[in-house]
Amino acid sequence: MAPDSPSSGNDSPSTIPGMVRIGLGHDSHRLVPGGPLRIGGTEIPFDKHLDGHSDADVLLHALSDALLGAAALEDIGHWFPDTDPANQDRDSAELLVACYQEVCQHGYQLVNADCVVHAQQPRIGPHREAICKRIASLLAVDTGCISVKAKTGEGLGPVGRGEMIQAECVVLLQAVTMGTGEGGKRNE
Ligand code: MG
Repeated sequence: MAPDSPSSGNDSPSTIPGMVRIGLGHDSHRLVPGGPLRIGGTEIPFDKHLDGHSDADVLLHALSDALLGAAALEDIGHWFPDTDPANQDRDSAELLVACYQEVCQHGYQLVNADCVVHAQQPRIGPHREAICKRIASLLAVDTGCISVKAKTGEGLGPVGRGEMIQAECVVLLQAVTMGTGEGGKRNE
């Protein structure tokens, strides 16, 4: 994946096999009329959807940011800027896969991801298993590597009023190759 700007401006550190790195991702999108809703690469029956430049899949955006962040590879907006018309209405599953490929090229693999979706409506809980399977399939990892939890906004704030949905993810990466950390070069 080529960055959309000349340089990431951030040399990722050297990798040593077995080394682990943590990453954090957060995202939020506004709910607007018209379904279906798309979260975690999974369509959920609802009369609203998330508004954004891409398909606004809040969970996949947060997960992509967590993966990139763990490898010090900037964020999803760096690789797929919302100023690029090519990214309009784009399938965030494609973006997630591309981000993880970049992470893998830097010598890492995913150990596990733990995610939280904050939504007053619809209830995400009944869809958690399908979402976990979908994400695991996209990343080619065991389903047991992916955790998705669902929280309501307890009726408080913009989430609680049903105006938006938020997602947070933490991931753990493990280095699998010795690497220079520069431009994806590896010493194998
Ligand atoms: Mg987003």
